[in-house]
Amino acid sequence: DELLLEADDVSKHFPLRGGRAVRAVENATIRLRRGHIIALVGESGSGKTTLARLLARYYPPTSGEVRLRGRSDTPTKEYRGQVQMIFQDPFAALNPVHRVRYILGRVLRVHGHARTRAETAEQAAALLRRVNLTPPEDYLDKFPHELSGGQRQRIVIARALAVRPQVLLGDEPVSMLDVSIRLDILNLLARLRDEDGVALLYITHDIASARYFADEIHVMYGGQMVEGGPAEAITDRPLHPYTRLLLDSAPDPGRTVAVDEAGEADDPGEPPSLIDPPSGCRFHPRCPAARAVCAEAFPPRTERPGGHWTHCWLLEKGD
Ligand code: SF4
Repeated sequence: DELLLEADDVSKHFPLRGGRAVRAVENATIRLRRGHIIALVGESGSGKTTLARLLARYYPPTSGEVRLRGRSDTPTKEYRGQVQMIFQDPFAALNPVHRVRYILGRVLRVHGHARTRAETAEQAAALLRRVNLTPPEDYLDKFPHELSGGQRQRIVIARALAVRPQVLLGDEPVSMLDVSIRLDILNLLARLRDEDGVALLYITHDIASARYFADEIHVMYGGQMVEGGPAEAITDRPLHPYTRLLLDSAPDPGRTVAVDEAGEADDPGEPPSLIDPPSGCRFHPRCPAARAVCAEAFPPRTERPGGHWTHCWLLEKGD
């Protein structure tokens, strides 16, 4: 499938006073293809939001490159027209003083997809139908506070679609919603992928929903990418000890469970600080299988057939 957006060996360090830095992302590579859903999984503080913001070009990487269709110099307006982010909090994402009609209409006009008032209204209505808010007339004149959390997130998605993007970056798009409607919103995103062929990055701490929803799962820990591949391979045959920990902490794979809530009792430790993070494999202070080499160097990438890869010294040949 056509490669749309890639982060190639990117790192992001946020400098602090005194020469220290928050090393939020370290040498991460990810490739988003047309019609493909990748789940980026990890606990909070694993660097997944920073990686998404690098992909959205909110800030530049400290090293490495972000490329849209092979180019790293796409002008900002064109970039925003192709790559859109959906945030976690549908309450904060919508300006409370504007009606839905204005929220959608403004984006349609700014991006040149509607000119006249009639055209704008017609397209805003079409967007509401696409996100299953029907009949649209019931929603166009509402303010965000008159809508439920799920309806608001549908408006946020409709607003992202108004741009006609090629890539959607969803940062925990359902984690603040009622468990009962999470699946509806994920199904909506999957349908948009089917209809428009958008590439979708689904960021979550919930590996159970990732398996249900994504084609591929990539796992981050402490700013490093530790494992990735087809969703089934990751959940059925995990290679990395951290992925196993995530799976063990998600008790019921059929449910949308927050790993950090569900796994609290047997969690063997805290996520690492990203200021002065652990050396080598950042998971080594928590890893039941750690050995001396793990603290010395980050393990190279080990490939398995079918596109399944990991970074773990356990998998190194002859070790
Ligand atoms: Fe554990 Fe070492 Fe593998 Fe890291 S490299 S996950 S510390 S065994």
